Parts: sequence; structure tokens; C-alpha cells
Amino acid sequence: MARPLLAWYDVNRRILPWREEVSPYRTWVSEIMLQQTRVAAVLPYFHRFMERYPTVEALAAGDEQELLKLWEGLGYYSRARNLQKAAQVVTREYGGQFPADYKALMSLPGIGDYTAGAILSIAFGAPVPAVDGNVLRILSRVTGSDLDILDAKNKKTYRAWAEAALPADRPGAFNQALMDLGSAICLPGPSPRCGDCPLAHLCAARQEGKQALLPVRAPKKEKRPEELTVFLLRRPDGAVALRRRPSTGLLAGLWEYPNTPGLLTEAQAARQLADWGLTALRWEKSWQARHVFTHVRWDMQGYAVTVTGDGELEWYTEDQRRQMAIPSAFERATRVLGELEGE
Ligand code: SF4
Repeated sequence: MARPLLAWYDVNRRILPWREEVSPYRTWVSEIMLQQTRVAAVLPYFHRFMERYPTVEALAAGDEQELLKLWEGLGYYSRARNLQKAAQVVTREYGGQFPADYKALMSLPGIGDYTAGAILSIAFGAPVPAVDGNVLRILSRVTGSDLDILDAKNKKTYRAWAEAALPADRPGAFNQALMDLGSAICLPGPSPRCGDCPLAHLCAARQEGKQALLPVRAPKKEKRPEELTVFLLRRPDGAVALRRRPSTGLLAGLWEYPNTPGLLTEAQAARQLADWGLTALRWEKSWQARHVFTHVRWDMQGYAVTVTGDGELEWYTEDQRRQMAIPSAFERATRVLGELEGE
């Protein structure tokens, strides 16, 4: 990616005040301002800011109310407050010099992975990627990857790809080229300007005609809550009631303790036992438990009861149970069983 991207950048790069005169301070302020704000809106603020606070020490010593007034119209005022807090740390702990170190930068208020990468690569020439939503979109399209960009684990993968593509001699230019490409060519939505794109010849999304489908951003699915009452039923001879789950669906084909929908009170649970043709000898224990699956959450009420009768249920001895897979969703019931058998 690097060679065609940098050749394109050298001709088409945007002329921006923080690019003409580069310093860690100016890169940092510009990147914070550019969060959630367009370049055109940032420009007059950046000029005013640099006039009023030409150095990190000046910002650290500034009056907060005056700073917030200057920020008025940019929104997200916590950005301004964090800028000043970070400036105070840099002044106090680093003698006014930004640390050229990822961890140290990340520990400053308001600086995350992207901003740290931008400062290190642009102002210090360090080979660190700066991956934001624009870069994720470009990487997803160039590689044709449908890995969800909202998933933290996938972000790491994309970041590793960006790192692998980063040229050691011009990391800052590479990161800025991606920023410019994302804002001018590889636009979000169905119609990126592939005809003008320097990466078109190696872009998998373009070759496969799926630019409009990438990147994938899977909406977070709400987990569907389900309530059930789990019965740990033991006979005096030690046999326990178990049944096999249906062969399709959640926990298909695995064994489970008998259960019914809903959270039953003890009186309702007693009626359920009678319906199964069982007589309760002793109510041993009750508990509540929760188990979270990918799409479903089980909220469970559990009852351990010593019963007589076979009812409609199937009963298994301890030896038989050792061969059976009882899923961890029922872990609490299994633990209670262990406790009761140990008594
Ligand atoms: S070819 Fe199109 S989809 Fe691929 S990176 Fe370029 S603009 Fe984006």
C-alpha cells in the first residue's frame, strides 16, 4: 500500500497549518480539535488557539474560563479541559517536552490510541499506526475483510495490518495519507471515488464490487432474556432426574436438569412436581443464577428437592451421570448437587 499511497499524497495532500509547521504540541492540539469536528471548522479555532497559547506551558498556565470561551462552538468541552490538564502534566512532569513514548502519551488525559499514534508518527517519525474510523474503513475495503470494525478484537487485527503496511522511513506521511484518502476518496457510504484512488489496483473490495458492503459494523445485539426454573431432583437412592435437550437449537443434544419456563415460587414449583407425578420429601435448597449466551440470557430460579416416585422423568445414577455432558449454563445446579452428595 505504502508506495502508491505516498506518491498520491505527495501530489494531493491537504495544506494544513499543523502540517506546515510540525511539533508534538501542534499535532496534538490539531488532532484533539479534529475529533468529531471537520477540518474546515477547526481551521479558525486552531489559529486563534495557537495565537493565544503558543506553547504547552502557556496552555498549562491559561485561565480555564478563557480557554472554554475560545473553544465555544467546537463543542465537546471535555476535550478542552483535558487539553489543559494534559498540558499541565507535560509541563510539570516532562519539562514542557512531549514524551516520545506510547505508554506515557496514553497516560495523558484525553489521549487515546489514535492520537498517540498520530503524535508519535507525525511529530516524532516513529513507526506507529494511527487507526481511526477512516483508516478502519480503508483497511477493510483494501483487504476485502468483513471483520466487524466495531469489535475491539478485530480493531487489534486491523491495527496490526496498518502496522505491517507502515513504511519505516515515512510513517507520519503514511498515516496522514490514509487520513486524506479517507476524507477525500475512500468515502463512507455506497460511492467511494474508486476511479481516483491510488489503491484501486490492489483493493479487494473494488475487485469484488463490494465497496458499499464494507466495512461491516454489526449493531450490538440486545441479549434476549429468558426466565426458567431449574429442578435438581434426587431420589433417596441417589438417582437424579436428567433429560436430553432437543437436537437443534441452543445447547443441542446436551443433558439438562428438568426445567420449566418462568421463575416459579416454591408453591408453584410444588405444583409442577405434582404434575410430573412426584412427591417432595425434602426441600433442600434454592438459588438464583444467570447464564449469558451470545444472544440469550438465562435468568434462573433453582430448587433442589428430594422426591419419591419416578414420575415422567428419567433417572440416572452417579456412574451414569459421569458420562453425560451437562453444560456450564447449569453449573450452579451441578455444584449444589455436589454439595448435597458430599453431605
Ligand atoms: S478502490 Fe475504492 S474502495 Fe478501494 S480503497 Fe480505493 S476508494 Fe476505497
